[in-house]
Amino acid sequence: MSILVVGSVAYDTVETPFGRAERVLGGSASFFAVAASFFSPVRLVGVVGKDFGEEQLAAFRGRPIDLEGLERMEGKTFHWQGRYSLDLNSRDTICTDLNVFEFFKPKIPARYRRSEVVFLGNIDPVLQRQVLEQVDEPRVVACDTMNFWIHGKPAELKETLKRVQILLVNDTEARELSGEWNLVKAARAIRAMGPRTLVVKKGEHGVLLFGDEGIFAAPAYPLERVFDPTGAGDTFAGGFLGYLAGVGDHSDANLRRAVVMGSALASFCVEAFSLDRLLRLSRPEIDERYRRFQELTRFDSL
Ligand code: AMP
Repeated sequence: MSILVVGSVAYDTVETPFGRAERVLGGSASFFAVAASFFSPVRLVGVVGKDFGEEQLAAFRGRPIDLEGLERMEGKTFHWQGRYSLDLNSRDTICTDLNVFEFFKPKIPARYRRSEVVFLGNIDPVLQRQVLEQVDEPRVVACDTMNFWIHGKPAELKETLKRVQILLVNDTEARELSGEWNLVKAARAIRAMGPRTLVVKKGEHGVLLFGDEGIFAAPAYPLERVFDPTGAGDTFAGGFLGYLAGVGDHSDANLRRAVVMGSALASFCVEAFSLDRLLRLSRPEIDERYRRFQELTRFDSL
């Protein structure tokens, strides 16, 4: 099944304790698309400026990523700059230059209208709904959001959530969206807003999946060195939804596999700056890490 993704395509400037990357490819839709494309065709909707070069576009080429929906506008590409703390657990946003992203109005090409899976990246919930209005009834609508929208446009966000089946957020966002500190209570409150399936990302502490069949937990892969966490959440979402779209059935067993697949992809993403590791990743490497996840979480009955 094809996945339509709408989100940011960006230049990122990132500082970590291990170095600095200047104006490298970033953006939620970029990480998502490359991760998802290992499993199913992706249709990308976003906007870049005239400064977005062939070198950046090359990242998407040679993969099943359709770029007809990537609009090129007069002006500069969205630029985000962040700096990570020594333990890589927190980051400061140094600047967010919206540039052409400020005027972004998602336009869905006619060819994309019949996409079975839609991923609404972290953009204004009003724009997220405009995307849904331009597509034929998709089988699955998944969505990401952030504190900026939870606090800035709570009513609009709740309206969007009524049309979402799978919500992916981090633990802080789940707490703020629900007003509940306890994540089990938070999940119950959020699932009552619309999404039957909730994925709560907890960074180095792994992921919780809340669904009709109960709760599933997966750890983050224990890496000796995390180089740059930027994009890990979007990469997780790409691996998770890409896998689900690839198998085409959202049984509980497949949702669990998808969580592990998302975690595997995210564990590669953080090994290098930007999309560097994802771009030289192979399917056998992904499958091998999936097996290591199985080994990591295997234990016998009493
Ligand atoms: P993550 O590390 O998963 O939160 O994603 C980081 C990516 O999100 C970076 O590549 C940024 O370019 C992008 N990003 C940062 N701020 C925003 C924003 N306000 N809207 C859209 N994308 C953003």
